[in-house]
Amino acid sequence: MEAISVREPHSLLVDDRPAPQPRPGEVAIRVQRAGICGSDMHILHGSNPFVVYPRVIGHEFAGVVAALGTGVSGLAVGDRVVADPVISCGMCHPCRIGRSNVCAKLQVIGVHRDGGFRSVALVPAENAVRVPPSLGFDVAALAEPLAVAANVLWRTGCGKDDVALVYGAGTVGITVLQVARMRGARCIVVDIDAGRLERARWFGADRVIHSGVESVPEAVAGELDGLGPSVVIDGAGLPALLEEACRVAPPAGRIGLLGFSPAPCNVSQQEIVRKELTLVGSRLNRRFIPEVIGWLASGALRPKGMITQTFDAREAQAAFDRVEAHPERTLKVQLAFDS
Ligand SMILES: [Zn+2]
Ligand SMILES: [Zn+2]
Repeated sequence: MEAISVREPHSLLVDDRPAPQPRPGEVAIRVQRAGICGSDMHILHGSNPFVVYPRVIGHEFAGVVAALGTGVSGLAVGDRVVADPVISCGMCHPCRIGRSNVCAKLQVIGVHRDGGFRSVALVPAENAVRVPPSLGFDVAALAEPLAVAANVLWRTGCGKDDVALVYGAGTVGITVLQVARMRGARCIVVDIDAGRLERARWFGADRVIHSGVESVPEAVAGELDGLGPSVVIDGAGLPALLEEACRVAPPAGRIGLLGFSPAPCNVSQQEIVRKELTLVGSRLNRRFIPEVIGWLASGALRPKGMITQTFDAREAQAAFDRVEAHPERTLKVQLAFDS
């Protein structure tokens, strides 16, 4: 069986390993599809501060329950499942107030422990979320990135009365766009690539702005009766955008941040206080995957269009090279196991 691991920064290894046996409380998942995420690229490049090498990567994966560890109830061999990579303790203060994704003892599958880029992956039973037969494994494997979008839109309280400005038409931006549209918000997407903006339109953007051609603050000034976009999401992860976000947000505006850059940026305290802005960080997801599976099953989103390429898992190196070489032409690249 294949396992795709990062031995050390810049060194991807595809090798054969015996199938691991589930420990008490765990299930073994025979992985069918797994998506490559920007954070997998960071692990490969040595820029993820949490990872310990060597590591089997991958945190967006779906498959079939192959074996149950002792003490597991509510799941059966043969169940179709998708993994929620967020492992939390359930006891600490954040866990007790429903913020398990920032658990004090947070462990992320594929980061802190071995992940889903292997033919058989182990996850705690509570991290295996059932998927209806109507959803393909390719679509099910998109539940995690969509849950990340659901999380930031929950954090910012984005809904039908909002105009959402989304920076970036990459995977993060497109998932945020789809969920925000589903929640009834008007959506404006900003990017520096015309092709990616075209794609954003296909996914339902009400308006797109090419930031290499237009000034974003000027372009959005007329939104919401001349106030500006009430929700701003940085799906590009650029620290400098926070300053612009604070400038374009209207009174009572909310700003959601998803990037993980350690670089500081200049924001004006006066700007934040005068307009009573809300700045929120959003990390991973707070158990949104069951809800996302419901949205996918109801046809409320356009998941198929997000999968731009699928590679056999044995061709993982080529898949990573593809993501690296053509970020503007890839949205979600998936690996197919067991084919
Ligand atoms: Zn991801
Ligand atoms: Zn906890």
